[in-house]
Amino acid sequence: MQGVGFRPFVYRLANRLSLKGYVSNSLSGALIEVEGNENETNEFISKLKSEKPVNAEIISCELSNQKLKGFNKFEIKESDNAGNPSAIILPDIALCDDCLNEMLNINNRRYQYPFTNCTNCGPRLTIIEKLPYDRQNTSMKNFVMCEKCRDEYENPDDRRFHAQPISCWHCGPTLSLCDSAGKLILNSSEVIEQTADLIHQGFIVAVKGLGGFHLMADAKNDDAIAKLRRRKNREEKPFACMSSRIELIKEICFVSREEEQLLTSSESPIVLLKKNKNSFSVSNLVAPGNPYLGIMLPYTPLHYLLMKAVGMPVVATSGNLSDEPICYDENEALKRLGGIADYFLVHNRPIVRPVDDSIVRVIDNKTMMIRRARGYAPLPVSYLNDGIKNAVNENKIIALGGQLKSTISICHDDKIITSQHLGDLSTVEANQNFEKVYCDYTKLYKAEDPIILCDLHPDYYSTQFAKSKTKNPVPVQHHIAHILSCRLENKIAGEALGIAWDGTGYGLDGSIWGGEFFLVDESEIKHIAQFKKFKLPGGEIAIKDIRRSALGLLYEGFGKETKNVFSKICYDEKSSEITTLINMIDKNINCYSTSSPGRIFDGVSLMLGLAGKSSFEGQAAMALEFAVDENESGSYSIEFLLEDKIIIDWRPMIIEIVEDINKNIAASGIAAKFHNTLAEIIFKVAEQVGEKNLILSGGCFQNKYLMDRIIRTGKEKKLNVYRHHEIPTNDGGVSAGQIMYYLKYHRK
Ligand code: ZN
Ligand code: ZN
Ligand code: FE
Repeated sequence: MQGVGFRPFVYRLANRLSLKGYVSNSLSGALIEVEGNENETNEFISKLKSEKPVNAEIISCELSNQKLKGFNKFEIKESDNAGNPSAIILPDIALCDDCLNEMLNINNRRYQYPFTNCTNCGPRLTIIEKLPYDRQNTSMKNFVMCEKCRDEYENPDDRRFHAQPISCWHCGPTLSLCDSAGKLILNSSEVIEQTADLIHQGFIVAVKGLGGFHLMADAKNDDAIAKLRRRKNREEKPFACMSSRIELIKEICFVSREEEQLLTSSESPIVLLKKNKNSFSVSNLVAPGNPYLGIMLPYTPLHYLLMKAVGMPVVATSGNLSDEPICYDENEALKRLGGIADYFLVHNRPIVRPVDDSIVRVIDNKTMMIRRARGYAPLPVSYLNDGIKNAVNENKIIALGGQLKSTISICHDDKIITSQHLGDLSTVEANQNFEKVYCDYTKLYKAEDPIILCDLHPDYYSTQFAKSKTKNPVPVQHHIAHILSCRLENKIAGEALGIAWDGTGYGLDGSIWGGEFFLVDESEIKHIAQFKKFKLPGGEIAIKDIRRSALGLLYEGFGKETKNVFSKICYDEKSSEITTLINMIDKNINCYSTSSPGRIFDGVSLMLGLAGKSSFEGQAAMALEFAVDENESGSYSIEFLLEDKIIIDWRPMIIEIVEDINKNIAASGIAAKFHNTLAEIIFKVAEQVGEKNLILSGGCFQNKYLMDRIIRTGKEKKLNVYRHHEIPTNDGGVSAGQIMYYLKYHRK
């Protein structure tokens, strides 16, 4: 891998063992030739593995004997540009402790320098223009190293030897503070203090960081947060926070050992943490009605210095209007964020590609990736075994994923590489970014005429984009892709029951699927069970207007009585509108038919009065999860109808929920029984088909209560429950699954 200090490490090791030869970076990895006696060379090989630098990972090591060339020293050779670019591009790495200590040391020449980095830390993906990873191929190329930096860069014994983004106060990027019109206010060393002051005063500051802009505001200031919500056009979706120290985070949230590890890791993601009783010190508007708070530690020197100066948690949300991609260029930022931010803290190191903050949570003491971007992408999500590798021909394979939470994956040699999270593709800005990233990845990995895979949904932007690039893109069914991404991640061979539950996915029969069960083995994928379908009046609008889901569910259970039942449980809803919606269902006008558990979550959440209309996808379902009374262990009735596949008939559950509501049973108890029923469905289907291996994928499994329950029951029943860790369980994992489909099943 390039950019982790592997070559200098090899240099120092070889010299220590008095070996002669060289190490060089080629496009396909590091090449080392050493000469010495057998003991020394054997020791070299074993130390190569045992003493490697922190961020280096040796994925494979091939050895061969060569004729003696009589080297007289060991050296680091210049990069070799020939060959196939299979070297892995590194993600950005959070500020390391050595650099932090230098920055805090008043006697160090990088005291408080906001762009400090070394061979073990600093920007990578966000500054790389092309491979190999050398300074002239990064956005640092226009900063000429001063003499001192050059000495460090060229000295194999220095910890900044060949640190490509190396710089200092004399030669590196600089900061400046501007107003919302772009007028320069300050570019001296006081910029950070001044920015901290502005945040204290309640202003919103756009801060140019590593992979784009953050909008920052005082997390304790209700007015500032309300202003940010208004200007950003974001009603209730939680904002992430940044805090200077882990101790400050522990003051407001519970932090487990695993969560602390994630917070302080070199990936430095946003971690979803449970608020504790002191969390009121942060404005309730940061994550309204949500028992969790997404928090990260500062991961660049700039963020560190700023957080230290502010001294309290700040909101640090992506610099964009809601749903648009993150903004990363100063001029563009002034245009797009001018109406949101009062001030801009910028620097002059160009960001080559925008990368969002990653989001993770811990379930059952293990990581669950929610958004995979900075720190993780574009490391491979998987390495293929020989059986699959051999099936890949010369062409590269690119998979374009879904529509929401989109990513691109590329199959390159024996690796599946997934791009950073690209977000919702429903805006022009997002579409432009998608096209850019497509070109970016095809160029980086030299995939000129790739095989293109896409979702089966004809209306997804990614599908239309695929069709514009090639005559015959290969469509992959959404839920099959979900299952295969999880099968890939867990390296499952042999048969398993795949359970894909989410909000929406285009089905093989042209209807909208969501609650799907497949039997998967090495050669075949069989669709064996599905939730009973119901009608959604107006189709997609139902994602935002969840009354439609509730009415669709009630109609299946109560038919003509739906109106009465609904008005009894949701008495303040406008009745004329409701009548129209019910008529649409009754006459099947402008409805689509769906098996989506995501919409069932929405509908039940509305029936329990936990959510009104939904303001962002998943909000109502989250409210239902948060309402759960964990002491309630009961569940509702479910029936199986046997057609060409098993149809999971949830109508008895809906009828019992309505009865419970009318008996004034607390929403928390009903929410628990609902979740418990869903978990039971999985085990009933597993029993019915006699399967012990379960693969879970799809957005519904981001639900912690549901997951905990499934994992616990799985253990009790001695079943193997496989779920996602590094690949998102939501649609961020779909592109990797599409590639698996092509490699294993498509051509058979
Ligand atoms: Zn460092
Ligand atoms: Zn310098
Ligand atoms: Fe999905």
